[in-house]
Amino acid sequence: MTTQKVTDVLVVGGGPAGSSAAYWAAKAGLNVLLLEREIMPRERVCGDALTPKAAGQLYDMGLEDATKKMHRHFGLRMTARGHSIDLDWPGDHAHPDHGLVIRRSRLDALLNSNAVKAGAEIWTGVEVEDPIIEYGHLRGCRAVGNGTGTGPEGALEVRAKFVIIADGPISHFGRALGTARSRTYAQGLAIRGYFQCERHMENQLELVFDLRNKSGGELPGYGWVFPVGDGTVNVGVGLLSHHFGNEAISLEGLFQHWVSQIPPNWEINLENIEDKPLSGRLPMGGSVHPRSGPNWLVVGDAAGSVNPFNGDGVEPALNNGRLAASVISSAIATGDGLELRKYEAELELSYDRYYKLGRIATKALGRPGLMRKLTLLGIQSRVVTELALRISSNLINNDAGGTESVYQVATQLARLVPDRDK
Ligand SMILES: Cc1cc2nc3c(=O)[nH]c(=O)nc-3n(C[C@H](O)[C@H](O)[C@H](O)COP(=O)(O)OP(=O)(O)OC[C@H]3O[C@@H](n4cnc5c(N)ncnc54)[C@H](O)[C@@H]3O)c2cc1C
Repeated sequence: MTTQKVTDVLVVGGGPAGSSAAYWAAKAGLNVLLLEREIMPRERVCGDALTPKAAGQLYDMGLEDATKKMHRHFGLRMTARGHSIDLDWPGDHAHPDHGLVIRRSRLDALLNSNAVKAGAEIWTGVEVEDPIIEYGHLRGCRAVGNGTGTGPEGALEVRAKFVIIADGPISHFGRALGTARSRTYAQGLAIRGYFQCERHMENQLELVFDLRNKSGGELPGYGWVFPVGDGTVNVGVGLLSHHFGNEAISLEGLFQHWVSQIPPNWEINLENIEDKPLSGRLPMGGSVHPRSGPNWLVVGDAAGSVNPFNGDGVEPALNNGRLAASVISSAIATGDGLELRKYEAELELSYDRYYKLGRIATKALGRPGLMRKLTLLGIQSRVVTELALRISSNLINNDAGGTESVYQVATQLARLVPDRDK
């Protein structure tokens, strides 16, 4: 027998994007059903670092107290071309002065339960199989529950007025509706592992841009050490996919190579690794289109929303989910489905133009000669590096001109690049 269910909003996927959408839609008084194939808490490959902007999103969802015991970081140490610089997060009235590091198993479980507290129904252990399309319109989905989570066992059919697609980087559901990732945009590939470490309580993130392959060639990306505050540090390395063109790079080989290059004061070696390192992809820069249809919206990694400057995907996921819930709630309140058009328009305004700069930056990363000069210039100047940090973390103060000021700052930075690099 097939279980039938009818709801206002169906959310496919219970990562940060889906949970945020479910929370905000439920808060707006809508009936929400979220389907998640895993059972919480579940692991999700990630660096676990939340920028101050992402922390602000959590606090907006009433999670400030719940995150008090989580590990906070107040800045970063960046190393490029052998030079290091310590930077604090800017901290202004618009954002917290700190970010968080929290294992995704904990974060995603917390976000799920927060959405349930707000009134959303979440069925875990339920795999969404395909969309129900009638007369060319999306009506809901078919799914199957394994009976081990909060969802029912067996075949399911969910019908909904609106659907939010939050099924992560592979996004089978989105693809079934016709979404596609543009191959001309770079995609990130990253691998991480946890190590026991005495310095797990450090309140600074470590980022190293001096990545090299075994033959000494420069690689576009960075290695990280993020203290988790639970006896471990999250160690990883990320690269841009367009670099993989002619060179077969094993991510595991790169990970081992990076571990051997980590500044020695961390005392990290492969013997102290908790488990096998795991890798994943980061669809970035708003690379997936379309991100909306007549009654559906795509959010988070499913929409290619990762920040191309720094691989931050949790903040855009939380933000996309909130925005999707807001336009759907307006559409239901006004009875005007055209409200959904505001989703694309708002993404264009708040992310796409900024991401365009990021794509230019990722192209520059593929040009080692230019990058050598940029990183040297940047790392030797605190002013330039602090500006770069604000831009790359999307911490430009909106009150001071929003994305326009990003362009102004970027223009200033671009002027500093010697002409012969063009
Ligand atoms: C190695 C690595 C390091 C990273 N480090 C960072 C970092 O430090 N900071 C940061 O901000 N970002 C980081 N990211 C990016 C970040 O992890 C993602 O951007 C973020 O998880 C996106 O959230 P999401 O909700 O869109 O997708 P996901 O977190 O992928 O959630 C999607 C959910 O949908 C579920 N799902 C999928 N298909 C179905 C289906 N058919 N039926 C039911 N459920 C389904 C999945 O089980 C999953 O729970 C990193 C990524 C990688 C790979």
